[in-house]
Amino acid sequence: MNVLKKKIGIIGGGQLGKMMILEAKKMGFYVVILDPTLHCPAHSIADEHIVADFDDDIAIKKLAHRVDVITYEFEHIGVEVLKELEEKGYEIYPTPKSLEVIQDKYEQKKLLKKKRIPVPDFIYISNEEDIIKAGEKFGYPFILKRCRGGYDGKGNVVVNGVEDVKAAYERLGGRYEELMAEEFVNFKKEISVLACRGIDGEIAVYPVGENEHKDNILIETKVPAKITKTLTNRAMNLANRVMKAFEGVGMFCVEMFVTDDKKILINEVAPRPHNSGHYSIEGCITSQFEQHIRAIVGLPLGDTSLISPTVMRNILGEGSKIGEAMVYGVKEALEIPGVRLHIYGKEKSFPRRKMGHLTATGETLEEALERARKASEFIKIYARGGK
Ligand code: ADP
Repeated sequence: MNVLKKKIGIIGGGQLGKMMILEAKKMGFYVVILDPTLHCPAHSIADEHIVADFDDDIAIKKLAHRVDVITYEFEHIGVEVLKELEEKGYEIYPTPKSLEVIQDKYEQKKLLKKKRIPVPDFIYISNEEDIIKAGEKFGYPFILKRCRGGYDGKGNVVVNGVEDVKAAYERLGGRYEELMAEEFVNFKKEISVLACRGIDGEIAVYPVGENEHKDNILIETKVPAKITKTLTNRAMNLANRVMKAFEGVGMFCVEMFVTDDKKILINEVAPRPHNSGHYSIEGCITSQFEQHIRAIVGLPLGDTSLISPTVMRNILGEGSKIGEAMVYGVKEALEIPGVRLHIYGKEKSFPRRKMGHLTATGETLEEALERARKASEFIKIYARGGK
């Protein structure tokens, strides 16, 4: 089969799905999405849209029948139906096997540890007693995490003392949810490395990005990260080893902590293009989205080199209202050289919702940073009437 004739199915039609389609379309692929929201960001550019919930197994099977390869834009989806489809010969990347391990933070860390990839110390939590034991083992504070379903820090609680144990256990629904505890890492920096693995095992690793979060939501990625050459090489090498450990196919993002004593620990792995990789659209020869498409259809991977220093900043919903999204300051922001704007096209804005991002390139990282931060001051998204 001519590879460009392959039809691609994406579970999820949010911004990541949309940016995958924009790249897929450049190469002429036919794309079908599955998403419960009719006017989701990817809707207007997909060739077909199956409007269904992510846990609708019949709809996922329908998607499988319509396409030649399935991928997904987020990891919290039912793995059983994907396994069943894979057994019947459908192509799904990243593979359900790697997804299953990554979906569970405890299993993910266990595999990394087994492969001798450094991670924060962690234990499995079966009951409240175990949380007290975690306090004795790690000291306070430490972090209690839900093994499944967490994003943007939802699903994590910092336990500051034995008096917090009960509330933390209840807050995370410990009686119904699987939990793990992790030592608190006093990190100096958070960095992430995007990496991609082809069906044939070829691996491509991207430059290291330095991330800043606010209230657990990513706000800024600077590339290249301001870390030593030794740490940069170590981080890229670790990302390569992570790809082999999970036998991943497609784009992955490896989030890491750089500690005071210059150690790198892996925080978590996402089996998909990632917010901290958006810089690659303007910053790298091959963006994370194009790379993902190349990988899952079996094309050679592209050059990951950085073209110039790049800074990405997220554009979050402002104000306190929910309503029709209104974008302000576009003209002023785009007057700044090197600035590019991405608006996801979500109909509604609400406080802290990821509505878009902007990227600035420059001759130096300082120049890119100044441009990006200035543009961020102009661009604001509010719900109508909420400014
Ligand atoms: P999510 O899956 O919701 O993104 P993470 O487990 O990656 O959650 O944690 C979100 C943020 O919490 C991280 O970016 C980091 O800032 C902080 N964090 C997570 N684990 C630890 C840890 N062991 N020590 C210190 N901070 C942590």
